[in-house]
Amino acid sequence: MMMIGPPGAGKTMLAQRLATILPGLSLQESLETTRVYSSVGLLDRDKALMAVRPVRCPHHSASGPSLVGGGTLPRCGELSLAHYGILFLDEFAEFPRGVLEMIRQPLEERRVTISRARGTITFPADFMLVAAMNPCPCGYFGSSQKRCKCSPNQIERYISKVSGPLLDRIDIHIEVPAVSFSKLRSNDGARTSREIKQEVASARAIQQDRFGSNVTTTNATMSHRQVLKFCSLDARGEMILKEAMNEFGLSARAHDKICKVARTIADMAGESEIKTEHIAEAISYRKLDRKL
Ligand SMILES: [Zn+2]
Repeated sequence: MMMIGPPGAGKTMLAQRLATILPGLSLQESLETTRVYSSVGLLDRDKALMAVRPVRCPHHSASGPSLVGGGTLPRCGELSLAHYGILFLDEFAEFPRGVLEMIRQPLEERRVTISRARGTITFPADFMLVAAMNPCPCGYFGSSQKRCKCSPNQIERYISKVSGPLLDRIDIHIEVPAVSFSKLRSNDGARTSREIKQEVASARAIQQDRFGSNVTTTNATMSHRQVLKFCSLDARGEMILKEAMNEFGLSARAHDKICKVARTIADMAGESEIKTEHIAEAISYRKLDRKL
């Protein structure tokens, strides 16, 4: 997920709360994360097992090897420490481009491979990437509370720091606007993490039924063939998707991602068919494709 919004909109808070709505670790997952942490001596002394999903928030000044892993005696990096958890990269556009490109492949393969003269080493890295960035260098582009001081050129240069191929691999781009005072003070319609966690659990249960004993356990990890099989659209949905693909010049990968997200939105709503509103919502989560 990529969150775009002005400073103080609560992006960091949202990223950290995300772990609280995810299903708990299975025993297998818990064993794997424990192994990663114990390999770098980061397992708490009084703990035998990692019981909660890790949330890692490396700073944009972090080096490539500290993120991805490496060293003479290769040790795993932040990507692996976020295994089965969340990797939160705040101020995404401030990360050196070369470093960001290094996470492209692990994001796809869900593991990190480090090549050495004597062979290759593989570390697990099945994390959920949550990135956050300001909409422009000053942070207030599109804000109703403060005037943006950036020129269109500066904004374009800022957004293009994050490469298209990397954005293409991010399922959901959302805008996180600054929260107004009245909204901050109201409790209307607010749901607790526990309530949302339950909804997530039922959506996951639907997915487990769908894929059965296959290796795919979530909509996000569906292959293209599975997308075609499980994400059929009605005529109107097909038309909306086709229009969006043409208008925004979306890639085949973006097409699959939209279908997967729409499938999940339908699952969350308890609908067996993907409806027009589900596909339209999923398309609305590709904000940055339009700007590039
Ligand atoms: Zn600005």
